[in-house]
Amino acid sequence: MKYSEIYSTDFINKVNEIKSEAATGIIADQEITKNFIDIEDMLKQLGFSIIKDDHLPVSGRIDGETILIDSSENQARQRFSMAHELGHAVLHQRAANRTDHNDGYSLEERSSEVFANTFASQLLMPRNLVKKLLGEIIQRHGYNPKRITNIEFSAHFRIKLATVSKFFGQ
Ligand SMILES: [Zn+2]
Repeated sequence: MKYSEIYSTDFINKVNEIKSEAATGIIADQEITKNFIDIEDMLKQLGFSIIKDDHLPVSGRIDGETILIDSSENQARQRFSMAHELGHAVLHQRAANRTDHNDGYSLEERSSEVFANTFASQLLMPRNLVKKLLGEIIQRHGYNPKRITNIEFSAHFRIKLATVSKFFGQ
C-alpha cells in the first residue's frame, strides 16, 4: 500500500505543510513496506529530529524541529507521543508537552490536546489499514469478527490498547 491509499490527499498535504525546507515530506507514492505506520521514519521525512531520553519529565515534547520522547515508556506509548507531538506541529505549535495529566491546562490548551490525541490515533490507526488487515484475516480464516481481539490489533499496529478500544467505540 502507498501513503496515498492510506491517507487522504488533504491529510497528506496538511502534514506536508509543516515540513522543513530541505525535507522530502510524506511521499504520497511511497510504498509502505511495514504493516504499521513507521512514525519515526515519517517524522524524519518531515525534517524532525527525535531525541530519546529516559529522564524526560513528560511523555513527549516538541521544541521547534526536535521531538523529545521519554524512552522509559513502552514502544506503543512512545509512538503515540511522537504522533501526538506531530499533531501540535500541524497546529503550528512548536513548543508543547505531552502528559496524561490534564490539570493546569487552559481551555485552549485542552482543545489542542484533544486535537493532538485524535490526530495521533488517526495517523497510527488509519481506517484503510484497518480494512486491509481485516481483509487479510477474513481471507485466511473466513469471516469471524471474534477472531481478532483488540490486543492483537494493538500489537499489529503497535499502538496503545486504549486507541484500539476508542476506534471500535468500546
Ligand atoms: Zn500535547
